[in-house]
Amino acid sequence: MLIVMRDHATAEEIDHVVALLHEAGAEAHLSRGEVKTVIGVIGDREVMYSLELEGLPGVEQVIRVLKPYKLVSRDFQREDTVVEVGSATIGGGSFAVIAGPCSVESEDQVLATAKAVKAAGATILRGGAFKPRTSPYAFQGLGVDGLRLLREAADEVGLPMVTEVLDIRDAETVAEYADMLQVGARNMQNFMMLDELGRFRKPILLKRGLSATIEEVLSAAEYVLKGGNRDVVLCERGIRTFETYTRNTLDLAAVAALKSLTHLPVVVDPSHATGRRELVAPMSRAALAAGADGIMVEVHIDPEHAKCDGPQSLTPDGFEALMRELRPLASLVGARVGQEA
Ligand code: PEP
Ligand code: MN
Repeated sequence: MLIVMRDHATAEEIDHVVALLHEAGAEAHLSRGEVKTVIGVIGDREVMYSLELEGLPGVEQVIRVLKPYKLVSRDFQREDTVVEVGSATIGGGSFAVIAGPCSVESEDQVLATAKAVKAAGATILRGGAFKPRTSPYAFQGLGVDGLRLLREAADEVGLPMVTEVLDIRDAETVAEYADMLQVGARNMQNFMMLDELGRFRKPILLKRGLSATIEEVLSAAEYVLKGGNRDVVLCERGIRTFETYTRNTLDLAAVAALKSLTHLPVVVDPSHATGRRELVAPMSRAALAAGADGIMVEVHIDPEHAKCDGPQSLTPDGFEALMRELRPLASLVGARVGQEA
């Protein structure tokens, strides 16, 4: 860390900063110029991020050189983390295909969708039982009944299943049913939840917050790893920009950037990223080409009557067509897509 003092900072101001650094157990190295003094600080990450030096008298700028995360970083672990979700693998050359409805609506709906996505080659079933809805009047999900229906459908077709933990109070219950726990975009910075999920022995699918920077995504994942759970998969699901034609803006550069910064697998959700069915297949192909470790797509047997996110949901036929398109592309980039036939 570097502390740049204001021009002609007084000796007392400089001494005060140095004293605080020593008190915190950090080393201070002074470079004194005629006008400016810069203090180089050596200490560990925890000390660097616990010090609040910006407001001190005489301090102009604090430049942090150490990143706010460690365990998720490629510097800490060079080789890719490969996450096993039941029978499915995410990362290490396996391009996972997570598919299913936005939300569980009925036994027939979830079972028919599960059968269709399994037949087309999906590796993990998705579905929402607890739904984060912008309006309190919108369908909130079937709750525990939804979890049970998802589990039954997943077992019947032989797929592992991921579903969202909307509230930390439900985490134990969700973990009884699910093979992987999803943290939704709106909860990406729910630090208490991330901390708690670090103690779970189930893989976590962490979605990028609506306006989260790449550093914030990685810091959120760091909470889970710091808690002891190393099985985290990041999900780029589009961010808020000025564009309104698409529901969000798919940030594919973030996928490539994350792949270089972290060893954790990264998947793309083209459904929430675009909000438009016709853009899901092209953005899935782009995700594969950009180096993603998988996709998560919404599929509904009857999108026109879906209770949630119908306009962005693929039909079973649309999903099958997407899988057919992805396979030759995958062999070009040396990945295995979904279940091999
Ligand atoms: C979802 O995947 O069901 C969902 C609600 O997504 P997000 O949290 O990315 O909005
Ligand atoms: Mn949805």
